Amino acid sequence: NIMLCLSDWQKGKVKLGHLDLEGALIARDRVGIQDFVLLDAHNSETAFLDNLKKRFTEDLIYTYIGTLLISVNPYKELDIYTKKQMDLYMGVNFFELPPHIYALADNVYHTMLSEANNNFILISGESGAGKTEASKKILQYYAVSCPSSTLMDTVRDRMLMSNPVLEAFGNAKTMKNDNSSRFGKYMDIQFDCQGDAVGGHILSYLLEKSRVVHQNHGERNFHIFYQLVEGGEEDLLRHLGLEKDTKRYSYLVQGECSNVSSINDKDDWKTVKNALSVIDFDANDIEHLFGIIASVLHLGNVHFDGDTKGYATLNTNAALRWLLEIHVQVLHEALTFRKIEAKSEEVLSPFTVDHAIYARDALAKAIYGRAFTWLVNRINESLENRVRGQQKKISDNFLLILCVLSFEQFCINYCNEKLQQLFIQLTLKAEQEEYEAEGIGWEPVQFFNNKIICDLVEEKHRGIISVLDEECMRPGDATDLTFLDKLEEKMGNHPHFVTHKLADKKTRKSLERGDFRLLHYAGEVTYCVVGFIDKNNDLLYKNIKDVIRLSKNPIIQQCFPATEGDSRRRPETVSPLFFNSGKVEICFFLLCLFSLFITGKFDEVLVRHQVKYLGLMEHLRVRRAGFAYRRRYEVFLKRCTCRWGGRTSSVFSPHKPELLFIFCHIQRTKIFIRYARTLFATEDAFEICKHELATKI
Ligand code: ADP
Ligand code: MG
Repeated sequence: NIMLCLSDWQKGKVKLGHLDLEGALIARDRVGIQDFVLLDAHNSETAFLDNLKKRFTEDLIYTYIGTLLISVNPYKELDIYTKKQMDLYMGVNFFELPPHIYALADNVYHTMLSEANNNFILISGESGAGKTEASKKILQYYAVSCPSSTLMDTVRDRMLMSNPVLEAFGNAKTMKNDNSSRFGKYMDIQFDCQGDAVGGHILSYLLEKSRVVHQNHGERNFHIFYQLVEGGEEDLLRHLGLEKDTKRYSYLVQGECSNVSSINDKDDWKTVKNALSVIDFDANDIEHLFGIIASVLHLGNVHFDGDTKGYATLNTNAALRWLLEIHVQVLHEALTFRKIEAKSEEVLSPFTVDHAIYARDALAKAIYGRAFTWLVNRINESLENRVRGQQKKISDNFLLILCVLSFEQFCINYCNEKLQQLFIQLTLKAEQEEYEAEGIGWEPVQFFNNKIICDLVEEKHRGIISVLDEECMRPGDATDLTFLDKLEEKMGNHPHFVTHKLADKKTRKSLERGDFRLLHYAGEVTYCVVGFIDKNNDLLYKNIKDVIRLSKNPIIQQCFPATEGDSRRRPETVSPLFFNSGKVEICFFLLCLFSLFITGKFDEVLVRHQVKYLGLMEHLRVRRAGFAYRRRYEVFLKRCTCRWGGRTSSVFSPHKPELLFIFCHIQRTKIFIRYARTLFATEDAFEICKHELATKI
């Protein structure tokens, strides 16, 4: 084992043996510590919070835990995203400048180019924490810093412009965030060997379709509806049968807040229209797309009365006229009757009013949801790698940016659970296995593997999602409570699942009758089953589907292909995203973000909670115990030899005025390096290390 001590203490020189700890401490107090790995009381959550707060008060929103970046949402514009700042961070090593999202973006980019492996940027945090903003900042940084040519400019513009479009259709005002993304996004950017961006791909998942038909008080439907109604040109609105008044549409008024001071729907409409043209939408596409948006609004205005037997009747056909270019009478029937196939006969069974509302809403959700998927696919076509045709060699370098976001509490927690699983696989598990393989003496760090909880939620035929799907297949018979009964029956013995009946035995904390509790890795969460069935359910009756297929709207025709089977698919989940985590090599970057809600004030209780459930103390422990930097010799030496001559090692040089001490293990194949604060590193150790390295070349 060899110790290596480097510091950037005086004007970039490597200085050994002279440690001005006093000075360092004073400097630290002023701005806190830029890297938690260097925190003295590294086990103390309070010290962690103090440091975060100290920095936040100085508008220093970024802090590292090793190569992991965490940030606190400032809720105000900071002067740190300028072109000048971008230039400053370009090509500079990670620890040479104060923590910044540009440092992370730059580091990922250069690691990808120099080591040609796949890189992964994971952005996590709760709603309003700044995930979407962070991913935009990363994209903007690449747009400015990557080399460019005309062709690349097209890719870049489209990449940037896909954002306002996706936000218009997939974001909405919620209580926590005026521009909350209501879908998960997973994006990769492809680079060629010169580092040019040549293509990209976006995957969306878990769009919150229920928002189309229902919004809580203080929340809005997806932005695009308001943008169209407020900003749409007269001709267009007339063509779509819309009035310029959001209050006229039942799907837009439930939250009672169609106007929001921070949102200018008229301006946003122009931005979206412009963005659509950049990503190659022609007039026809636009007409059909907004035909669908308008249809959803009209559908919401279809109301039902009950006849003497309580069956649903339509009180007017007015709204139907505008719906999806389908014959009014056909649509009318599909919204009030269900077709049942009995033996060789087809019987029409009338809907009750509730049932008709349910069918109408299911239709609205399905149309919007599928149009959204169509939109994402269409954006992907425009981002497709065009270089291939020109026979330019493409390396398979890519960067992945993944935003985790909230949706229904259950889904967000499930997402977080999956991400924690990914983190475990990539770091705790893989890392320790690697140390073993390399023959490094290693005291195993205990960790809780949350796979058991992921299985509880997602396992085929047995998990909570499967049970929910099964219940949704029995419309009319299934209720939220029958769903709960099934859960109890199937997973009553699971150590991480608790219901009312079992609560006393398991945790001694009682539960309401309609609740169940999951013991997530981050803590216990109680869920109320009310609404689970409805929210998961987007079951469309067969005859409604058949009717939809009569639409002349080409987008609708693509969204509801005749070849589609009627068996229900498993709902889309984040799991496909984790398929190839094995492909991701050492470069795993995590941005953990903090929300302070609207107050913008550092609320200690709130932040402490987030530190807990993001598992930051755990991260810190692993970073300190583990080896943050692991590289094959060739790669390491290539970097070192060009820098070492100048006596400052850019690979490790710490940002001033911190002192970094680095332990490294030099094994047969790889070099392992970790940071630690210690006083007993000496010049000798440094010499030995250099010598050792030299002999290994
Ligand atoms: P999330 O995607 O995590 O739900 P957003 O990225 O939409 O959150 O951020 C919510 C709001 O917080 C933004 O609309 C913006 O006003 C503010 N915000 C987020 N990040 C920053 C930042 N780096 N600087 C200034 N304001 C920010
Ligand atoms: Mg977001």
